[in-house]
Amino acid sequence: MIHEAGIIIPFTGAGISTESGIPDFRSPGGIWTRYRPIPFDEFLASQEARNESWGRRFAMQEQFGAARPSRGHRAVASLYRAGKAPAVITQNIDNLHQASGIAPEHVIELHGNTTFALCLDCSARYELSWVRQRMDAANGCAPDCPSCGGFIKTATVSFGQAMPDAAMRRAEDLTRSCDLFLAIGSSLVVWPAAGFPLMAKRSGARLIIVNRESTEFDEIADLVVHADIGTVLEPLILQ
Ligand code: NAD
Ligand code: ZN
Repeated sequence: MIHEAGIIIPFTGAGISTESGIPDFRSPGGIWTRYRPIPFDEFLASQEARNESWGRRFAMQEQFGAARPSRGHRAVASLYRAGKAPAVITQNIDNLHQASGIAPEHVIELHGNTTFALCLDCSARYELSWVRQRMDAANGCAPDCPSCGGFIKTATVSFGQAMPDAAMRRAEDLTRSCDLFLAIGSSLVVWPAAGFPLMAKRSGARLIIVNRESTEFDEIADLVVHADIGTVLEPLILQ
């Protein structure tokens, strides 16, 4: 199917990054077996929630900071370099598709990026090291934006926070334009992101799902591979 396809759109979830040392959400030992997510309205409502949210982010920094692209990321980058995949749509926030050599404008991030921060009001960008310094100097109190007083949050999309319009539109256009949609390592339960495989099928594309567990969309797929992502995709890696 990959050989026959003209335009492939890879669509990735946390499963492509577990080999890179970043736990997913829903596998045993995943992030949610340890933490309850902090919804967006709680982040806005209390300084404590902001401190907690930043504390968790820094607790994960060792894993995010050390992570390198997996075999799955490298296989996707190979499809991109070969001109088969014009872009990748990802639910991940770990920046590893960019690190694998895909140009940032061709990584469509549905849930944002956790490797930097933004002011929620004026959109000024802040580096995590700056946030950390300010928190350390203020007894663990998360800083507000020095220029406008807005709250500063990692550039990710929390539950209850609006999806990024431009990324959603581009993801829809890409999904409708492809003839092969490759869903890799997503449990396909987080909406609206989970709607893309179905949208691809309805637009006439073939659908391949690679996941070690079954998903709700397995029955509409043209091919389901229940196996380890790195092992399955490694043959696609072009050196
Ligand atoms: P998920 O945790 O719900 O699902 C991950 C899926 O990948 C699971 O179904 C699991 O069976 C599968 N999987 C894990 N490792 C695998 C492997 N080596 N081989 C084959 N299958 C494997 O993740 P999701 O669907 O992406 O949704 C969770 C949300 O959490 C996403 O929206 C994302 O924003 C966020 N998240 C991101 C990261 C990251 O950036 N790396 C990590 C955790 C969560
Ligand atoms: Zn601001």
